[in-house]
Amino acid sequence: IIQAQGVQKHFGSFHALRGVNLEVLPGEVVVIIGPSGSGKSTFIRTLNALDPHDGGQITVDGIPLNGKGNLDAIRREVGMVFQSFNLFPHLTVLENITLAPTRVRRASKADAEKRGLDLLRRVGIEEQAHKYPAQLSGGQQQRVAIARALAMDPKVMLFDEPTSALDPEMIKEVLDVMKELARSGMTMLVVTHEMGFAREVADRILFFDQGNVVEDTTPEAFYQNPQHDRAKAFLSKIL
Ligand code: ATP
Ligand code: MG
Repeated sequence: IIQAQGVQKHFGSFHALRGVNLEVLPGEVVVIIGPSGSGKSTFIRTLNALDPHDGGQITVDGIPLNGKGNLDAIRREVGMVFQSFNLFPHLTVLENITLAPTRVRRASKADAEKRGLDLLRRVGIEEQAHKYPAQLSGGQQQRVAIARALAMDPKVMLFDEPTSALDPEMIKEVLDVMKELARSGMTMLVVTHEMGFAREVADRILFFDQGNVVEDTTPEAFYQNPQHDRAKAFLSKIL
């Protein structure tokens, strides 16, 4: 459902992505790990054109990602969840969720609210629907952010360190929602340092180093027998 071939990205003279190749099949869960600055965020941001790539090809669900014409189509297909939850502070939880479906998908308010409440139930915080983001814990806010992304019926969900800003007690509640999503068959790309999650849920692990994918393998193979020196060093630090 995602094809990336030779993806390049420069920031001025800095070469952030140096020919990234990746194919993700429908329903796959791919976890991306790697050292700070290796291009993980940059890469997943190219997949919904938050950062345009400047070389190579990306296709999402058959839609080539090039030029402006396809941006709206791609953003409807691809949901994204960030480390900082990025909710609209002046809107209630439910309004955060219904905004895009009513504006972009032209859903009726009633339908969007019904769907929004279903999604809030799915992420376990239906009772928070009429609160404002600032009245919620970090874990609850992140679950709202996930529900908001799901409200657009994306084919792919991208997560960039979704639990890195959370207190330890709240990490599990967010990971549990992500596990449920994975089990439901959602295609997911997840940048995370949560190795338990990666081991349990990932179909594949990608290890990034200096703008390249240097390992693309199963979790078992990655943990037991990392091929690349950088991956070995990384694992020895975090395990
Ligand atoms: P981390 O684990 O710290 O989140 P990362 O693997 O996600 O790291 P990126 O955020 O993708 O790394 O950054 C890759 C490189 O590109 C870094 O060296 C970073 O400084 C650089 N970079 C990222 N965004 C920009 C930007 N908007 N302008 C200039 N340089 C950038
Ligand atoms: Mg990052």
